[in-house]
Amino acid sequence: LEDAVRNADRLSTLGTLAAGLAHEIKNPLGGIKGAAQLLELELPTESELRDNVRIMLKEVERVNRIVEELLALASPRGLQLSKVNLHKVIGDILTLQKRSTEGKNVAFQQQFDPSIPPILADEGLLTQLFLNLVKNAMEAVDDGGCIRVASRVISDYSMTQKGERRSRMVAIDVADDGPGIPPERLEQLFTPFFTTKTKGTGLGLAICQKIVTEHRGMIKVESYPGKGTTFTVMLPLIQ
Ligand code: ADP
Ligand code: MG
Repeated sequence: LEDAVRNADRLSTLGTLAAGLAHEIKNPLGGIKGAAQLLELELPTESELRDNVRIMLKEVERVNRIVEELLALASPRGLQLSKVNLHKVIGDILTLQKRSTEGKNVAFQQQFDPSIPPILADEGLLTQLFLNLVKNAMEAVDDGGCIRVASRVISDYSMTQKGERRSRMVAIDVADDGPGIPPERLEQLFTPFFTTKTKGTGLGLAICQKIVTEHRGMIKVESYPGKGTTFTVMLPLIQ
């Protein structure tokens, strides 16, 4: 318990630091962005200088994203609980993401168990959780492939002491038929800043892990190199 308290303490200090740092970085970054946008307007459309300014703007966005993700990971925001319709949250994410794959050969499938009731959860955080997983799946299939999201009810014995009472959970699979993940890499996935992408931050899954833990749930990954990957999120049905 002492360890847990010390850890929580350390995390909240880290959260305060991260929040302060994020603020300090985002303000000057906004200044750089504004100035670069003005500069872009001054330069001829087809010029190397303008291309360079565009690169500056893209990189500014990248720093912005890292700061925001770091903030999401480090800040000890409490849960804002309400009754959340999981299927609506996920359905909305898929509808939006589908648009960004227009012209590509990416198929989206959803298989929801209609008997699953709303769960007590933080809707904003659940959106972030499933958006991160769906985005990873989209990045995995790249130009062509299939992304499937399914929900089902499972019984879990490991969550209860002595197993005398089983708890019901909802399990959501986010599966893709992308390249998969080599077994030796599976353990590192949830570590902050672990990424294999040139433009990745490596914070997405760490954030997912945090959100799931805060909801007293679990997240696991199963992957078959060459066949695909399935992330499964398990959340308590009755809290
Ligand atoms: P990022 O997406 O910024 O790289 P994440 O924390 O979201 O960071 O993911 C970490 C790493 O896990 C990725 O760089 C990738 O190597 C691996 N990964 C995550 N999801 C998948 C997936 N669906 N298929 C294959 N690899 C994945
Ligand atoms: Mg990611």
